[in-house]
Amino acid sequence: MRVLVSVDMEGVAGVTSPTDVMPGTDEYRRFRELMTAEANAAGAGAFDGGATAVTVTDSHDRMRNVLYETLDPRAHLVSGPVRPLEMVEGARQADCAIFLGYHAPGGTPRSVLAHTLSVTIRRLQLDGVAVGETELGARVCAQFGVPVGLVTGDDGLAQSLRHTMPSTPTLVVKDSLAYGTARMRPRGEVLAAIADATRAAVASPPPRPAPPPGPVTVTVDFLHPALIETVGLIPTVTAIDPATVTYTAPDMVSAAQVLGICTLVAEDAMRAAHLW
Ligand SMILES: [Zn+2]
Repeated sequence: MRVLVSVDMEGVAGVTSPTDVMPGTDEYRRFRELMTAEANAAGAGAFDGGATAVTVTDSHDRMRNVLYETLDPRAHLVSGPVRPLEMVEGARQADCAIFLGYHAPGGTPRSVLAHTLSVTIRRLQLDGVAVGETELGARVCAQFGVPVGLVTGDDGLAQSLRHTMPSTPTLVVKDSLAYGTARMRPRGEVLAAIADATRAAVASPPPRPAPPPGPVTVTVDFLHPALIETVGLIPTVTAIDPATVTYTAPDMVSAAQVLGICTLVAEDAMRAAHLW
């Protein structure tokens, strides 16, 4: 049983502020340690549940946050931003995936740091259904028949997944009161619960999902029409209204890869237009 642990940062217990997850800030140093501790709790649970190999895939920002020196010495680590499967790199070689520290989609009310991939994106839809990063990663994993055995984050995330991934177990590690405020659960309880839930997920993983039938239509609403002027230049990507693009990809992997390119281009356009 090979386990992929994809770890984002906004949904880690303790995190509330954008500066907590922003490389270069004083707070960020602390939260890298908390992120690594959650990855270690999941790793320990996975090995207890029968994992033969655990790969921790760093999935936040430039994807080089997890501290290798304090990571469980039995775990592999994927670190760095350029990778074919982005937040779920390693899915090709996995039997079960665990998503740690994930967050609710952009627009979710009262949910810590809720967003979808980038500050440039207002809404993401796959085949007409609004989704966040969790559903996107789960669909890429499904392309390889890999089930998601557990998702952790705040209560806003757990609630949003009730509609889109109702059979996937979730673990709430903090209760959000606002975009930048949460009531933390005791840290010892959180780490023990992550280990327990991961052990249970690995010991009896969900059934292997069928690969989503292609093609996939992706629709992205951006925050500002200026972003469309450049994103719309990407071949296969078509502007359908002043702030929305759409494209159709043959499968989930290429759908996610084109989305990654759209996001990079939109962020560059946003900087060029001094919109942030
Ligand atoms: Zn993140």
